[in-house]
Amino acid sequence: MTRDADAFHIPDHIRSIPPYVGGKPIEEVAREFGLDPARIVKLASNENPLGIPESAKKAMAAAVGELGRYPDDFGFDLKQALSQRFGVDTSWITLGAGSSDILYTAALAFAGNGGRIVHSQYGFVVYGLAAQKVGAHATVVPATPGLGHDLDAMLRAIEGGPGEATASVVYVANPSNPTGTFVEPAAIEAFLARVPPETVVVLDEAYTDYLDPEHRFDAAIWVRRFPNLLMSRTFSKAFGLAGLRIGFGIAQPVLTDLMNRVRAAFNVNALAQAAACAALADQNFLDESYRLNRAGYRQLTNAFDKRGIEYIPSSGNFVLFRAGHDDDAGARVNLALLKRGVIVRPVANYGLPQWLRVSIGTEAENAAFLAALSEAMNVPAARAAA
Ligand code: PMP
Repeated sequence: MTRDADAFHIPDHIRSIPPYVGGKPIEEVAREFGLDPARIVKLASNENPLGIPESAKKAMAAAVGELGRYPDDFGFDLKQALSQRFGVDTSWITLGAGSSDILYTAALAFAGNGGRIVHSQYGFVVYGLAAQKVGAHATVVPATPGLGHDLDAMLRAIEGGPGEATASVVYVANPSNPTGTFVEPAAIEAFLARVPPETVVVLDEAYTDYLDPEHRFDAAIWVRRFPNLLMSRTFSKAFGLAGLRIGFGIAQPVLTDLMNRVRAAFNVNALAQAAACAALADQNFLDESYRLNRAGYRQLTNAFDKRGIEYIPSSGNFVLFRAGHDDDAGARVNLALLKRGVIVRPVANYGLPQWLRVSIGTEAENAAFLAALSEAMNVPAARAAA
């Protein structure tokens, strides 16, 4: 016997949650288009083309024997390492099953039960989903013409209209996904100084390790100054551990204590903890991830420039480019790429149907994407030679 959702007391805000749309798995594309999985190039989920660091593999192999037990719920070893890296006490750290877990937990802890959440148009999809999940109201602030965060408008939205309470939570991604836009640290700092003290600022730094040295900044310094700041980081990108699901948040102990009460117990498994400790210490891998990403960014954007393809300058490990000027362009070019064994990410769900997002891969993966793209976009081959 089955029953439809109307038969249960399901709240409207839960029923109306759209399913999360991730990058298509390689196996699925292989089946659907009759392709050899080994020849498919997946540049759809901002993963690290280097894969998992060898140091993390070794650490996991050593940890396997203990998997019959629950993981360390406190995450002692990893918190010690993070505490040293960021110069904060372990009581300032929350571990999450990916940084998505940190983002969701923040919504639940600080904006649940009817709070208001502010985020930017084209901000990471999880912000809106988190608001819906916890029954918060989302205020979406129009982006700048370059598709980035408009911090002044966000401040006004945080303060709220007449009769509206100040926002409980604001999400700011820097760099942002899917746009790749970056806000200068000085502007973030000025923003933090102006946000009302009762509003929690979640600074999502999933892509921070890809920033050029001259743009890097240490948000942990701001966490010491601003009791309402939670910085969120992940091991999924430059550290190469996306499949393990591990990330962390840093905030002062009052917020961190609440985050830790709200998160699921044992949310981060033992293999993920062991791998993260190893990856954190593996500076060579991190440097190589950065270097490969910079080279890949130049490879992709040089080709886009030559072909006259519009793109948003990106500070992350992906580039948002315009597939065409009609609202079917993203879907059309995406399908043509899939048929050629290249998986990128459509962003129509972000309100960007003319655009596609490509993750930066290895040199060979990027070249395969560019070759498929010139066919998919019907760019004459002579002009497409890159
Ligand atoms: N923040 C941003 C801006 C992201 O793009 C992503 C991943 N796509 C995440 C957070 C979450 O990644 P994870 O849960 O793997 O840490």
